[in-house]
Amino acid sequence: MRETTKKRILVTGGAGFLGSHLCERLVERGDDVLCVDNFYTGSKRNVAHLLGRSNFELVRHDVTFPLYVEVDEIYNLACPASPVHYQHHPVQTTKTSVHGAINMLGLAKRCGARILQASTSEVYGDPAVHPQVESYWGNVNPIGIRSCYDEGKRCAETLFFDYWREHRLKIKVVRIFNTYGPRMHPDDGRVVSNFIKQALRGDDLTIYGDGGQTRSFCYVEDLVEALLRMMATPDDFIGPINLGNAGEFTIRELADEILAQTRSTSRIVSLPMPEDDPRQRKPDLTLARKVLDWSPSIQLPEGLAKTIAYFAGLD
Ligand code: NAD
Ligand code: UDP
Ligand code: UDP
Repeated sequence: MRETTKKRILVTGGAGFLGSHLCERLVERGDDVLCVDNFYTGSKRNVAHLLGRSNFELVRHDVTFPLYVEVDEIYNLACPASPVHYQHHPVQTTKTSVHGAINMLGLAKRCGARILQASTSEVYGDPAVHPQVESYWGNVNPIGIRSCYDEGKRCAETLFFDYWREHRLKIKVVRIFNTYGPRMHPDDGRVVSNFIKQALRGDDLTIYGDGGQTRSFCYVEDLVEALLRMMATPDDFIGPINLGNAGEFTIRELADEILAQTRSTSRIVSLPMPEDDPRQRKPDLTLARKVLDWSPSIQLPEGLAKTIAYFAGLD
């Protein structure tokens, strides 16, 4: 018989970068974890170390199709997250965000489960308000190459809030800013993984545009801690809430830091700026500090060192 104190927790996209770290924390905590993934960008390798654990189960499933299981909490992370991957099959990306959200919300409704949506800073688009506060509605191109992801995630937020208004579902919406760390997909084209791989191999570091665009980078362990704290908030706190690290760096500064840490002799080259690439991004974390009593503890140099060590071990 099931122990009543143990929660049954579904993590969609659980074999991905963030999902695998989240599953790990939940398994360590002693919950019953059901990891659902279609392995589009994630892989069994990311959770291989959990497969022998009696409170961990892995199921291959695409969330655009209905899923009937019994759970107490759902973390809905399923969705390709890097521009290279989400632009590869843009229609599937929107379907995953929208149909996936409907199915997981339907499941939460039937089970009476709490459900957390992994939304994104991309809902702010190329932001005219800086740093980004949760009350900002964003500046998003509805028909550009990033729209499948941005608008898909915006629609998912709409669905979450309508299920809350219409069915009083227990929702939690978090807007995640750029997060990095071990188990990032090596070929997902994100700036941190690209630069580290390039630096370790002695290849040119590819800066898009003039490198003056900014991002704020959060280490994965900090982010996972915030996800757990958000899920544990009272029912009347639903978000949206920004999660990330408020340290803001230009892409050129990031390249310099990675070159210094790897002692690489790679050169920096400039490539064209992709369409609709946001010029600046930095979370306002006031709400997260207040409600979650959380702020990130691992700053960029330390987090990069751990990530570089991980990538060095892959080669
Ligand atoms: P990831 O690509 O490593 O993980 C996504 C996972 O979802 C993968 O394992 C993939 O196989 C799975 N997936 C994709 N489509 C699916 C489908 N239809 N059915 C089932 N599984 C599916 O990316 P990540 O960085 O771990 O991102 C996880 C979530 O966090 C995503 O929803 C992403 O939008 C969000 N997010 C991430 C970041 C970041 O910087 N990493 C920033 C903002 C938001
Ligand atoms: N759904 C699911 N698992 C469940 C319950 C529902 O995947 O346990 C899916 C189902 O396919 C449905 C969707 O969630 O289309 C939305 O469910 P809801 O009950 O909100 O709407 P309805 O079934 O009335 O369309
Ligand atoms: N970028 C870059 N070189 C790369 C990959 C990305 O200069 O090899 C830039 C990209 O144009 C963007 C920033 O780095 O301005 C962050 O890109 P990423 O794809 O990691 O995340 P996102 O754009 O989704 O924030």
